[in-house]
Amino acid sequence: MSSRQTTTDVILIGAGIMSATLGSLLKELVPDWKITVFERLASAGEESSNEWNNAGTGHSSLCELNYTVEKPDGSVDISKAIKVNEEFQVSKQFWSYLVKSNLIRNPRDFIVPVPHMSFVQGEKDVTFLKKRFEALSKNPLFDGMEFSDDPSKLAEWIPLMMKDRQLNTPIAATRSEAGTDVNFGALTRLLFDHLKKKNVDIKYKQQVDDIKRTSDGSWELKVRNLDSGNVERHTAKFVFIGGGGGSLHLLQKSGIPEGKGIGGFPVSGLFMVCQKPEIVAQHRAKVYGQAPVGAPPMSVPHLDTRVIDRKESLLFGPFAGFSPKFLKTGSMMDLITSVKPHNLVTMMAAGVKNASLTTYLIKQVMLSKEQRMDDLRQFIPNAKSEDWDLLIAGQRVQIIKDTAAGKGTLQFGTEVINAADGSIAALLGASPGASTAVSVMLEVINKCFPQHVKEWEPKIKEMIPSYGVTLLKNPELIREIHTSTSRTLGLSGELQTV
Ligand SMILES: Cc1cc2nc3c(=O)[nH]c(=O)nc-3n(C[C@H](O)[C@H](O)[C@H](O)COP(=O)(O)OP(=O)(O)OC[C@H]3O[C@@H](n4cnc5c(N)ncnc54)[C@H](O)[C@@H]3O)c2cc1C
Repeated sequence: MSSRQTTTDVILIGAGIMSATLGSLLKELVPDWKITVFERLASAGEESSNEWNNAGTGHSSLCELNYTVEKPDGSVDISKAIKVNEEFQVSKQFWSYLVKSNLIRNPRDFIVPVPHMSFVQGEKDVTFLKKRFEALSKNPLFDGMEFSDDPSKLAEWIPLMMKDRQLNTPIAATRSEAGTDVNFGALTRLLFDHLKKKNVDIKYKQQVDDIKRTSDGSWELKVRNLDSGNVERHTAKFVFIGGGGGSLHLLQKSGIPEGKGIGGFPVSGLFMVCQKPEIVAQHRAKVYGQAPVGAPPMSVPHLDTRVIDRKESLLFGPFAGFSPKFLKTGSMMDLITSVKPHNLVTMMAAGVKNASLTTYLIKQVMLSKEQRMDDLRQFIPNAKSEDWDLLIAGQRVQIIKDTAAGKGTLQFGTEVINAADGSIAALLGASPGASTAVSVMLEVINKCFPQHVKEWEPKIKEMIPSYGVTLLKNPELIREIHTSTSRTLGLSGELQTV
């Protein structure tokens, strides 16, 4: 056991997309600050950010029906869709800046154009989709979106899904060529490679076991080397807890009052994957359907073209699962040890209120492969069991807290929790997820470094020209950004050969 001590300006806990993004932003804003990263696994981007642990959808509300809700008067509320789309435009601008500045060489290594589609069956859902399309297509953020309920048009767009389909119920789809497939694992690794070159100290197989405030207001971390068992103390003026599912425990250890009363509920994701080139070649889109009744929003079924290491495959899911682990590589004790006196009542209230979610999860866990294939056959009527394998993806820890909606409310978004003095911040939740990493990390910067933001603003605007501007009110800027990011990231036109 050693007790080496070091002091640095910034510590990032976890080497996922969030820490990678915050580290990259800070390195551009204040190159002199010393940054250290601690990661419990052997390399970067191995947990939720890994390409096989998430669906790689560049979420921009072009296809996800759960971002638009039908109001009691029958109109469609598109405010969440606009927010998610604007956030993705922010990510694309920062990624473009990194490419233009040669900090990332080839965008094709992490992002490719893949059309985004919504697909529905039955009269009620077709009517909803049409209304959704009418509301969105008036908005410049959704320029170019098309709608069709004509089976022959749909056969052009999604031949694999239309083959052998019985047309005894109305069907319809929307399609946008502005959609993307993002390899968040590759992006995370590219960003950490870049940070390493900029002298960021990245320490793998080092687990943060404890976080304590020091008398001068800094934070001292107890870090265990998972190979040698040695424990070291590292101090920083600012700490970002980017531990993904592991963040809740670390936030609780920090003891900040803002972290009290919050709980977490893990939901696992499983996908079916097809790697057969002759089947994969028949489908080029990310096609999102309607969530089954009682399913949580992140369980919306979708059939996706994935492009990983320049190889295409098809992914279908997610099926929900239950494991008490907060990380895929976590411990079976994660859920139980996250229950503390300050969140016990909240957690119990959530248990009572979410009985239908529990029933849904139990049913999902019990599904056989053939039952999962039946769900897939809603999308690909003639799908054969032998062509598809089961893939266990990442864990999502949903936030539970008391809100205006009541005690123990399950939240499906992401939330930055920070100390009032901005010296520590944690990111909880996982939706819309990695796609919005840049906006969420800008939020961390705004909340934790308000004294510097004015001085940093010109550089932020150089990286993200729309910073501080509501895109919705600036259709010209939307078009400019769309054109320039598409050019830099290679996103114009059809899916290119990979
Ligand atoms: C099934 C599924 C599908 C998804 N689909 C999409 C999608 O299509 N599009 C999208 O945008 N997002 C998607 N997401 C969400 C997205 O994957 C996450 O929001 C994102 O990857 C989270 O990044 P992160 O950096 O916060 O966490 P992670 O990538 O999980 O990284 C956290 C890191 O912290 C490390 N760590 C944890 N605790 C400690 C500790 N004590 N000490 C040291 N290191 C620690 C972990 O080992 C890990 O490497 C999906 C997620 C899941 C699970």
